[in-house]
Amino acid sequence: MAIALPSNDGTVAREITPELRAMQRRIRDLVAQKNAVILAHIYQRGEVQAVADFIGDSLNLSREAASTKADIIVFCGVHFMAETAKLLSPNKLVLLPDMKAGCGMADMITGDQAREFKASHPGRPLVSYVNTFAEVKAESDICCTSTNAARVVQSLPDREVLFAPDRFLAAWVQKHTPDKKIIAFNGYCPTHFVIKPSMVEARKKLSPDALVLAHPECSPEVLEMADYVGSTQGLMDYAGKSDRREFIILTESGLLLRLRELYPEKRFVSIAPCPHCPYMKFVELEKVLACLENESNPIEIPTSIMLRARTSIERMMAVV
Ligand code: SF4
Repeated sequence: MAIALPSNDGTVAREITPELRAMQRRIRDLVAQKNAVILAHIYQRGEVQAVADFIGDSLNLSREAASTKADIIVFCGVHFMAETAKLLSPNKLVLLPDMKAGCGMADMITGDQAREFKASHPGRPLVSYVNTFAEVKAESDICCTSTNAARVVQSLPDREVLFAPDRFLAAWVQKHTPDKKIIAFNGYCPTHFVIKPSMVEARKKLSPDALVLAHPECSPEVLEMADYVGSTQGLMDYAGKSDRREFIILTESGLLLRLRELYPEKRFVSIAPCPHCPYMKFVELEKVLACLENESNPIEIPTSIMLRARTSIERMMAVV
């Protein structure tokens, strides 16, 4: 496993000192001793990604969590992702290095609000984005990720479908499922919300030959300016296959780091300021080491919601 690290786009750069390298080696030793696995989201800090066994987006991390043979999963991401790992691997110890690693979007809908949303539109199925807490998943008929949201909605027999919490992703899905009527909850991702058309315009003037690649959590006005819209994994795949050399990336800063690692011959730039999710950056190497050493910060889900929440994830997995 490579330990050398690139810069993390200036937002979260950290000097790779001998002490930090020693910490990375200690983490890997513990992973082997404890039969653990480290899963890291693409938006994580570079030095954290460097100790991971697997780096991916929400959907791929869920698949990895469901299939791992490890006894312990250290989830380097945010709380709802670690909860999803626990739902899929209920008998494993799932650890989150910092319990403050929440999600601004997931915070926008509680279980009570999900119940109210359903009650105000009786008879319609609720599709919830995976960026929700387990209590909301338990109220949902089926989950989705940004990779499969349109396919999940299309798979339902109903014409009218409730979608929570991201209204921007809901609008994107609506565009791709014209025979459905999507009723959206009023949430959004604060990190993508700050990306404005004027910022994209300014960047395009500096990089007129670049293709604009955007995540569907951006506003519809921003998505209108994109050459390609896709999930985190979709953006990576598109950039890799494209014969173009330069790309403006409209999503969280961590994807720039990953793209520059994967395709060093291409140029990836962002808007100014570069969007940066503070929740994702709560996870630091010291916290990964501490939670693995002490087996601290276990994810626990009440049994009353475990089964129902898990069912909504499994239904999604069956569709995709
Ligand atoms: S980028 Fe947005 S949706 Fe993703 S974890 Fe951060 S706040 Fe939540």
